[in-house]
Amino acid sequence: MSIEATGLCKVYGKTRAVDDVTLCLSDSVQVLALIGPSGGGKSTFLRLLGGLEVPTSGEVRVDGKLLPTKEEDLMKYRSGNGFLFQSFNLFPHLTALENIVLPLVQVHGWEKPKALDRAKSVVARFHLTDHIDKRPCQLSGGQQQRIALARAMAHEPALLLLDEPTSALDPEMKAGVLDLIEELCQSGQRIVLSTHEMGFAKRSADQVVFLSEGKLIEEGSAESFFESPETDEVGGFLSKVMKW
Ligand code: ADP
Repeated sequence: MSIEATGLCKVYGKTRAVDDVTLCLSDSVQVLALIGPSGGGKSTFLRLLGGLEVPTSGEVRVDGKLLPTKEEDLMKYRSGNGFLFQSFNLFPHLTALENIVLPLVQVHGWEKPKALDRAKSVVARFHLTDHIDKRPCQLSGGQQQRIALARAMAHEPALLLLDEPTSALDPEMKAGVLDLIEELCQSGQRIVLSTHEMGFAKRSADQVVFLSEGKLIEEGSAESFFESPETDEVGGFLSKVMKW
């Protein structure tokens, strides 16, 4: 995917969540990791890329196309993408399978039999077939997040946006979700994720953007970013978070 941002700003009241970000990532990027301290603007930047927010000023292009700002066009753009957030956001009254089928039918307009087939093949791929008839309250956090990931990618999104997908999980649950995301990365799915999992980002991302206080501090290939950061701020951050 190519991503170009020019003077991109998102302001909430007095907070400049994304502050004048200009960036040009070439077409060869498949997995982009957004890294930086909490409150640095990762989630807001990701939401702008996914069309969940519109910029206060500036603009952003994905694959050369300027992202829309009109609600009707935004809805269309959004529905082509897949989203996964820190909290699983599954419908509590529906089974795991129904949670995947419902958006395929209601948002993407698929016929129910086709949606059911796809949902079943995705849960099989994610080793969740034993859980398809359970409701979210009968599933662990890790299982819920794997169902939410299956839901996010079932329609083969142009872009899969993952906002700290493992932050709410216990360590052993994290591993199962990260394994699936890694499998998606390897299968060629285009992904933008914000994460505090540095080992995962180093292994799976091909490009990294570091944001702090809304500003783009550094961007580069994952290899150069982790091996030889250019700024003291990134060097200091990495030495703190990679210490353990
Ligand atoms: P990160 O994902 O790096 O933790 P965020 O993008 O969530 O950072 O937040 C960046 C800043 O913008 C923070 O100060 C946060 O409190 C603020 N912010 C984010 N979303 C909103 C919102 N909807 N309303 C008000 N402030 C927000």
